[in-house]
Amino acid sequence: MTEFLDTDVRYVKGVGEQRAEVLHGVGVHTVHDLLHYFPRRYLDRSTVTPIRRLRDGEAVTVVGTVQAKGVIPGRRSKRFELRIQDEGGGVMKCVWFRGYQWISKLFKKGERIAFHGKVQQYGRTFSMTHPDFDKLDDDGPALDTGRIIALYPGSAALDRVGLNSRGLRRVIYTLFKEHGLKLDNLFPEWIEEQYDLIDGRVALRAIHFPKSQRELSQARERLKFEELFFIQLMLALTKQTRQEVAGPTFDAPGEYVHRFLDEVLPFDLTGAQERALDDVIRDTQRGLQMNRLIQGDVGSGKTVVAVAALLHAIDSGYQGAFMAPTEILAEQHYANLQQYLDPLGLETRLLVGGQRKALREEILADIAEGRAHVVVGTHAVIQDHVDFAKLGLAVVDEQHRFGVMQRAKLFEMGDNPHMLLMTATPIPRSLAMTVYGDLDVSIMDELPAGRKPIKTRLRSEKRRGEVYQFLREQLREGRQAYVVYPLVEESEKLDLKDAESGFEKLQAEFRPYKVDLVHGRLFSYEKEDAMDRFKRGETDILVATTVIEVGVDVPNASVMIVEHAERFGLSQLHQLRGRIGRGEYQSYCILMADYKRSAEAEERLNAMVSTNDGFEISELDLKLRGAGDFFGTKQSGLPDLKIADITEDQPILTQAREAAFALLDRDPHLRAPEHEPIRAYFDHYYADRNLGFARVG
Ligand code: ADP
Ligand code: MG
Repeated sequence: MTEFLDTDVRYVKGVGEQRAEVLHGVGVHTVHDLLHYFPRRYLDRSTVTPIRRLRDGEAVTVVGTVQAKGVIPGRRSKRFELRIQDEGGGVMKCVWFRGYQWISKLFKKGERIAFHGKVQQYGRTFSMTHPDFDKLDDDGPALDTGRIIALYPGSAALDRVGLNSRGLRRVIYTLFKEHGLKLDNLFPEWIEEQYDLIDGRVALRAIHFPKSQRELSQARERLKFEELFFIQLMLALTKQTRQEVAGPTFDAPGEYVHRFLDEVLPFDLTGAQERALDDVIRDTQRGLQMNRLIQGDVGSGKTVVAVAALLHAIDSGYQGAFMAPTEILAEQHYANLQQYLDPLGLETRLLVGGQRKALREEILADIAEGRAHVVVGTHAVIQDHVDFAKLGLAVVDEQHRFGVMQRAKLFEMGDNPHMLLMTATPIPRSLAMTVYGDLDVSIMDELPAGRKPIKTRLRSEKRRGEVYQFLREQLREGRQAYVVYPLVEESEKLDLKDAESGFEKLQAEFRPYKVDLVHGRLFSYEKEDAMDRFKRGETDILVATTVIEVGVDVPNASVMIVEHAERFGLSQLHQLRGRIGRGEYQSYCILMADYKRSAEAEERLNAMVSTNDGFEISELDLKLRGAGDFFGTKQSGLPDLKIADITEDQPILTQAREAAFALLDRDPHLRAPEHEPIRAYFDHYYADRNLGFARVG
């Protein structure tokens, strides 16, 4: 089967060298690619607009007969015009300014053609400029007989070699005619039955040549399912392979865990924290490597769970690693961990860039010889440079910055320590299934008791005086505040100037309160000092660019002012806001925004004002930005989707995932003959793009 599918398109009847080259340019290299070059839309009676019902500015499809054509001389340049009339007697013009010499030869009087484009109205005349078009006439029965015609994504290059929609339809039609269904149906009966799917070969034909709307929608359903199924299978296999990896066997929680929970920690765990910790304790005693993600909203107390997990490792005679995405966070976690581990007589070490060589070597020796119980640092440093005496657990904080690919690398660390990943970025369920589809997930959806929900307000420049007045009152009560400026990479310098001048103004305005500034351009020790001063309460207002985005924890900070809030993404705003509301005080987030803002910015800001719920926010963010951008496939390390849409096709995704996992349950190595087509297809099209883990068999 794959031999046929792998045939270069140039050997497909009606293609040849020249067309093949153009097809390669749009990503179509093989027969398989050609069959999966899906139509962008379809034409049938219900999608055609009668000319008499056109409105200025609308993008529509019109089907009409060519009545007249001609090159019209103009003052500066000539143009080519077509006059067409549709069944209802309406008349429309189509106009080409460019390429008219070539275009003018394409049309004959009396031909029936579908035109797609934006309608312009001049007086009582409608016209379309440079419309897309599809000839209908010699395509067999006319539209009105209920035929559905596939229209393909086009390009000028495709047009030039005659591979417009009609050309493509012909080539694909011939391919089907010559080779019929020389393909395997990929799925076994039990999957098709359980999920009510039509035959895969029928679907592939029907997506190009649907006989009815019903058949088309069944075909789409089947092909979406197939596409999502193979991604889920890739994740399921990755997960399966990982779950077969041996890991350290921890004992039941011992002295350190108990003393931490009973004596050191000044509060009780929330129910969600307890459940997450139970998951970890269960996972780590089975002799298999743990691959767990804790997904919890900002402030839900993930760090405490991580500390308990580390102590659990130490109880069993192992060391722990704590990896943070930035040095600031590493420093802060280090300080936190010390506070918890020192009273237990345990040794914590910090490893970051820029440490003196002698110090660094001493630290590395402590770790290698087992004197250090826990080492905190950035991923880069720990992953690449540290040799542990007996590493049992690695905690990875704020892991949402990694895609599936980078994550795979993490798992190759040392002697398969247990992995505990933590993320504060709640993501919609649909995406979680894919982005975290290779992990076990504990969700922490509960904030510590006594937290007061943050109040968020939207303010314009006009009310800055009022905002400052409010801030002054909060400072007077002993609270601290963040003032955040956006930092967009392209205009880094400009933004920095913004933050710097803001800092100076605040300093003048709020004397004698202490104001400090942190941004990405500072040396790490400078950032660290500034953060420390703020944490110790020596600074009252911390002006910052988004370097404080994740994880920073200063419970006394109760106010956050976000400047140019319209320039931040929704999830980013939510992350930022999570820096406040972390203690017992009522906290306030004030979004300063320009009146001139896009509708989308308006939606983001309103969402921030109306909810504190990270999951709700992530759903909306996904809607606003679209899946591609939300978790760029590049970043997530997953293949691009050709027909399915992660946001819209959630129900299909859920089923496809269920099917993929059910398949591995029945037949972990896909050895049954009825699963052979899946196995072959997967090995061929997915195994090399996967995570280096998933191998069938
Ligand atoms: P995040 O999940 O955002 O990483 P942290 O672990 O930093 O959250 O915790 C946020 C704050 O809540 C910290 O100040 C922490 O000490 C506090 N905290 C954590 N768990 C509890 C709890 N069960 N009860 C009260 N406060 C808690
Ligand atoms: Mg955190």
